[in-house]
Amino acid sequence: MNAKSKIIVIGAGLAGLVLAYRLKQQGKNVTVYEARPRVGGRVQTVLVQNRQGGFSHAELGAQNIMDGGVATNILSLIKELNLELNEDAIPFEGVYYDGEILHQRNALISQILTKHDKPHLTIPQIAANCQNMQEVLTRLQLTPAQEGFLSFLLNGYEGIDPSLLSTNPHNLNTLIHMLSGGLSQVHQVAKSKAVIHRVSLKEGNAKLPQCLADRMGQSIHLNKALSDVQYTHDKKIVLTFKDGSNTQCDSLVLAIPCTVYRDIAFAPEIIASDRLNRIRGMHYGTTTKVLMPIQYPPGTGHWAASPKMGAFFNDDQKLLNLYFTHDDGKILFSERTFQQTHQLLRKAFPSASFNELPFIEVNDLHYVQYSEPAAKSWKKDPYAQGSYSGFDITLENEIDKRVDYNGTIFKPLFAPIEDKIYFIGEHATILDEIGTMEAAVESAERLAKMLSDY
Ligand SMILES: Cc1cc2nc3c(=O)[nH]c(=O)nc-3n(C[C@H](O)[C@H](O)[C@H](O)COP(=O)(O)OP(=O)(O)OC[C@H]3O[C@@H](n4cnc5c(N)ncnc54)[C@H](O)[C@@H]3O)c2cc1C
Repeated sequence: MNAKSKIIVIGAGLAGLVLAYRLKQQGKNVTVYEARPRVGGRVQTVLVQNRQGGFSHAELGAQNIMDGGVATNILSLIKELNLELNEDAIPFEGVYYDGEILHQRNALISQILTKHDKPHLTIPQIAANCQNMQEVLTRLQLTPAQEGFLSFLLNGYEGIDPSLLSTNPHNLNTLIHMLSGGLSQVHQVAKSKAVIHRVSLKEGNAKLPQCLADRMGQSIHLNKALSDVQYTHDKKIVLTFKDGSNTQCDSLVLAIPCTVYRDIAFAPEIIASDRLNRIRGMHYGTTTKVLMPIQYPPGTGHWAASPKMGAFFNDDQKLLNLYFTHDDGKILFSERTFQQTHQLLRKAFPSASFNELPFIEVNDLHYVQYSEPAAKSWKKDPYAQGSYSGFDITLENEIDKRVDYNGTIFKPLFAPIEDKIYFIGEHATILDEIGTMEAAVESAERLAKMLSDY
């Protein structure tokens, strides 16, 4: 790959932008094509009216940088770009509403522990005979409320229904930490206080992709959705976009979610059909968000959950974040969802007053102001078609495998093809914390380093 080789990156999410920025720094000829009218992909910051009448930054997609563990890659990038961080802590205490009774989280966990007092020993033993995490939960022989609560937590955190989550060590560890009072491997219970450490960018997470895009100048083309990829007889790559336009390049970097590969035709010489089908078959979560203005402070409650939704306040308790875990692309705007949401909120936060307005679907742009509950279904979004990938049963036999390609480590499914086709994105990370911003940045930094050594 010499300075004249033309490299095209498809997708201006975090992975695509970080790679393009690094290649530009290396003096390479790189251009980015993005389907949306904005950069950032599954990072989307909006402004929602708060109870003082002003507007608070709020995240419809990725919020907590610390979900990526120590998050070395993204934190050093943020430092390099001189962006400011905002840190806060959400207490673990909360309530679970099973449709009839409000249960305190601490009480549910203590009840489960009286039955299974050493989860780090019992969970792996039970899991040895199970196909998926739902089976593990069933074999714990819990009450419906205890099982429903753990099922919500697993789905909410890993993004995928427990029946589709593999029993690999990562998912087992998440469950063990939930039973030990924390939330996951990276949000373990602290000795002094049980809180989730939350870190995001002061002016909204969209600042990161926007800042990278500013440094790319004219090399980013928006509103360009890739639809077809072919080779010419002399092995140039021909890309065709949905608007009918096309272009050619020497190397192609696919920085798009696995879900959207279904909408792109690839010649079998570009990606072999078996490999393409496995990429297309990866399960993504259906987590979806609503940012809700509130009229009065919520009192003492911090968060509340019911079988298919969770609610927690932002750091200054001016806004409520609603998480729906089973969105098929339709639930958000149904009357039933609306009623169930208000029933949970009235039960869990009786002293708070909520905006009864219906949810409104947001535009696909950053920093738009909303005075109504602003809703975003990631499942319905054509360029995400889901929220994020997790360790699911589809890739049971490959998720833990690694291959060495020219001295750099990749997952076999996302290893480069013939020094021409490259894959990056949160799914392609070799870290344990897939499905995170850190994962997306790690995948890009690793490839950039490999290409710089060429
Ligand atoms: C609701 C929600 C909550 C989350 N919470 C957190 C969190 O708290 N912490 C955390 O670390 N992570 C979180 N994540 C995950 C995080 O957002 C992602 O892991 C990360 O942003 C993925 O970056 P990426 O570059 O891999 O993919 P993306 O951001 O999806 O970027 C891919 C880009 O490709 C574009 N594209 C798609 N198809 C085409 C096409 N045909 N042609 C051209 N371009 C195309 C897309 O528009 C997009 O811009 C959350 C995600 C969601 C949805």
